[in-house]
Order: sequence, then structure tokens, then C-alpha cells
Amino acid sequence: FTSKLPNLATSIFTEMSMMANQYQAINLSQGFPEFDTPAFLKDKINLAISEGKNQYSPSNGLPELLTQVAAMVHRQYQTDLSTEQKLDGLKNVTITSGATEALWVAIQTLVRPDDEVIIFDPAYDSYEPAIELAGGVCRHIALDAPSYAINWSLVEQTINEKTRAIIVNSPHNPTGSILSAADLSSLQALLEKYDLYLISDEVYEHMTFDGLRHESVLRYPDLFKRAFVVSSFGKTFHCTGWKMGYCAAPDALTVEFRKIHQYVTFCSFTPAQIAIAQMLKEHPEHITELSSFYQQKRDLLINALKDSRFNMLPSKGTYFLLLDYSAISALNDREFCQWLTKEVGVAAIPLSPLYPVDKRESYHQNNKVIRLCFAKNDDTLLKAAGILCQL
Ligand code: PMP
Ligand code: GLN
Repeated sequence: FTSKLPNLATSIFTEMSMMANQYQAINLSQGFPEFDTPAFLKDKINLAISEGKNQYSPSNGLPELLTQVAAMVHRQYQTDLSTEQKLDGLKNVTITSGATEALWVAIQTLVRPDDEVIIFDPAYDSYEPAIELAGGVCRHIALDAPSYAINWSLVEQTINEKTRAIIVNSPHNPTGSILSAADLSSLQALLEKYDLYLISDEVYEHMTFDGLRHESVLRYPDLFKRAFVVSSFGKTFHCTGWKMGYCAAPDALTVEFRKIHQYVTFCSFTPAQIAIAQMLKEHPEHITELSSFYQQKRDLLINALKDSRFNMLPSKGTYFLLLDYSAISALNDREFCQWLTKEVGVAAIPLSPLYPVDKRESYHQNNKVIRLCFAKNDDTLLKAAGILCQL
């Protein structure tokens, strides 16, 4: 049997969570909340199930959810736009089974055989296999450590006649960096100049810190007209296991996106759609309070680690914090994470698996950085930090 993805192993997130369970380590590796989804959402999903709302929804998503997503986007990002420029939920939003499905479908919609797609390393691990299975080729550009900013002149040098699209992710997993308005304007100039498309992975859109605002592509109509904007209700509402997300795109792109979505899943879980539509409508404060909720956790962890020998890198968004361990160990990042999980009792994510296979070794040589997830209860964070401070 000839593998279609010969270089691909099991996702590092699965690997580290399994190891954390096996060694009963505190799991700060895979990104998911330790705390529960709001009671309101659980009540509403239970009610939908008990009331018999258990059949297919319309393939694009329940209309009430599509309009609630658009209303949220208007409130968060589009207060200054004219009515025609604002997102139309029914025409521009498609509900998907997690952001993973949205990314998959957006990539299948865009990428033709031999097309090139630019992605930035370290990159979320679902982009590359999706691009390859569409027959495309990934062009990797490393983010500039330690700020993990995008070098736009390098991007321009990488663009050629085969380039079809660029994928950006802000707030960025795993680094916690975010794109500025200036970054988006550099991006827009390149998309226009070379007639390219954009996939904007904004799953951590509601988690930015220190008063920084999330520069969503949805704020900028000239950028949005070439874009698929992907988000995840799992991140926003602490229900990653429900696998609920959406894709917002202009009319013509949405038409093509929906053709593929209908044959990937047809539709997403109906009771969750009903519950999330009500949550968006009745509890908008959940979203407006999310950044401060996670900022408190980030600060608690930073404070608890301040006397450790780890060097903490800035986390401007997401629920991740990078730690440089070069003062502690000479192991490479994967070995260090294995040792940390087995011998020390705290699981983290190494960054090198989020680089292409041929660049991992050189990355190891120059960088000793791991990712911690702080979407955990305060006592868990304090306990983990206490252990890490002894290293
Ligand atoms: N993109 C990024 C950057 C992520 O971190 C995640 C979640 N791990 C996803 C996409 C996928 O989100 P979902 O769980 O909604 O499929
Ligand atoms: N997004 C999660 C993380 O970064 C993992 C999701 C997954 O395991 N696929 O840890």
C-alpha cells in the first residue's frame, strides 16, 4: 500500500495527551479547557435533544445560528462598516464540524493540483496534509523567533505564478503572537498585487491580552473579498469536543465552499447549533469577557513561573504560553517534553513537530522552546508551576 501521506505521523497533540494520561502527568499539552462549557449551553443542548431536535439541519447551518454569527461579527468587528459591507449570515456563513472541517473545505475549495500555498512555521498541523491531499504544495516560511512576526518581504520573494493562497493564523497557535493592522495591510497589498486568496484561521479570535484588539479579516472589506475566515465555537465556548465551527466568506466563495461542505459532512450536529445560537443571542458577555478571563490565567501562570529557570516568551493572545528551557536542559524539544511528562509530571507540546520534516533538526539546534496551555483551573496551573520551578 502506498501512503498518500508518507511523512505524516500521529498528531503531536494526540501523542502528548496520550503520554500525559499514561504517566498521569498534569496535562498542559493539548489545547483544551479543563473547565466545563457554560451551564446555559448544556441546558440548551439537553433541551434540544429531549425536544426531539435530532434530525439533519440545513446543510449550511440553521438560519438562526447563521444570523447570530453575523450579528456577533457586526458587534465585534463591523460597527463602522456600511450595511452592504456587513456580513450576511445566510449568504456568507457556513456552519462546520469544527474549524478543522472549515479549514479542510476552504483548502479543497481553493487548491488545484500543483498550486502553491504559503504557510508560516510553526504551523497548526492540519494545514499541510489538507493542501497535499488537494494536490497542492506547501511553501513554508519560518516566523521570526522570538517575536514570531511575519517577514513580508520574504513572503513576496516566495510568491510565484503557482501561488494560489496564503494561510494566516492570528492569534497564533502555538506562539501566542498576533497580527497587527500593519500586517494585514501588507497582506492585502500582496493578495491584490498577485491575485491570491487568503485563509484566515481565527479560532482564538476572542482571546487577546493587554488591551490589544484582534485584527480580524472581517474588519477589512478589501481583504475579506479574497478570504475564507475560519473560527471555532469549541474554543470560544469551552466545548472543543462538540466540534463546532464556521467559515465566513464572500458570496461567490461561499457558494463553492458549500458545494464541498455538503459532501464532507452535509451538516453539523443540530442540537449544538440550536444551543449555540441561543448562547450567542442571550449571553454576548461570554465573548466580551473571554479575553480578561484568559488574561488572568496567563498572568497567574507567568507570576507562578517568575522564579523558575524558564524564559517566558510574550503571549499576546490564544491560551498558550511559550517557555524557553535552554537554561535547564540540552535535550531537543521532543525529548525534553517526553522527559517532562514521564519524569517530572507535567506535559507540554514541543514546537519542532510544527515545522516541516526537513527543518526540524536545524530548528532543534537553535531553539529550545515548548508550549504550555493555560486553559486550566487555577489550582492546576499553580501545581504545575510549582513543579516546573524546581527544575
Ligand atoms: N486552528 C487552530 C490554530 C487550532 O488551534 C485549532 C484547535 N486545535 C483548530 C484550528 C481546530 O479547531 P476545531 O477544534 O474547532 O476543529
Ligand atoms: N488545537 C489543539 C492544540 O493546539 C489541538 C487540537 C487537536 O488535538 N487536534 O493543542
